[in-house]
Amino acid sequence: MFCNTCERYVELKRKQIDQKYHELWFFFVFLTFGFGYLIFLIVKYRKRKNSCPYCEDIFDLNNIQEGPIG
Ligand SMILES: [Zn+2]
Repeated sequence: MFCNTCERYVELKRKQIDQKYHELWFFFVFLTFGFGYLIFLIVKYRKRKNSCPYCEDIFDLNNIQEGPIG
């Protein structure tokens, strides 16, 4: 996928949940006896794999302009 912002080909990824919040999530899961973990998964996988890893620009996957990789 070509990122117009970075002007380079990039590997798309999901927006990551920030690492520094993982401890908060752990406490949340602990306090909710595991129920929070389900919410964590929902939050994590509702994010589509459509963002640039460098500028976090969101691509419109319905309007893909694929090109040769590299
Ligand atoms: Zn980019």
